Amino acid sequence: MENNKSCIICKSTRTIPNWYFYGKDYVCGRCYKRLKRSGKAIPKQTIEDRFWSKVDKKGEDECWKWKDTDSRYGDFRYDNKVVKSHRYSYELKYGKIPFGLYVCHKCDNPTCVNPKHLFLGTQQDNMNDMIEKGRSIMCSFPNNRNSAKLTEKQVKEIRVLSRMGLTQTRLSIKYNISITQIYNIVNNKIWRNI
Ligand SMILES: [Zn+2]
Ligand SMILES: [Zn+2]
Repeated sequence: MENNKSCIICKSTRTIPNWYFYGKDYVCGRCYKRLKRSGKAIPKQTIEDRFWSKVDKKGEDECWKWKDTDSRYGDFRYDNKVVKSHRYSYELKYGKIPFGLYVCHKCDNPTCVNPKHLFLGTQQDNMNDMIEKGRSIMCSFPNNRNSAKLTEKQVKEIRVLSRMGLTQTRLSIKYNISITQIYNIVNNKIWRNI
């Protein structure tokens, strides 16, 4: 994260001469001094601006890569929430995703957030897609809410089976939850208390 910060005013990513923390964002030393001298308030960056600052936006039909590689699945954090970046992008463009639906990629680039490359799908679509394309993660389930459906016993089982070598894809089919959730369980990112 530290290396990815950029000034919310001039967008510079160089440390000139140092950074001022502003909410969740940064202002470079040069801009900060200029603003202070002018007596103007520092403009607040919108969540949407912050989202696009993490995207390598290209041509309309090209893949737009999510640059923030902090997390394996391209998480976007805001207001103490964590969402998948491609889901956030989808909602910006097309509106709210109906509960329970996945956002899948038409392209072969799981980190792509170009809304033109995204479509809504069901768990079944997701599985078909993965099998067809021979890849492990393309679509992601809405949120962590459905991890509440799991019992403590199942969470323990998932961890044991994973250690025994069962793939996350298989576990996701077996327990009917998303691969992201399996990943989070296996890596103790959720259900940490068990
Ligand atoms: Zn600046
Ligand atoms: Zn794409």
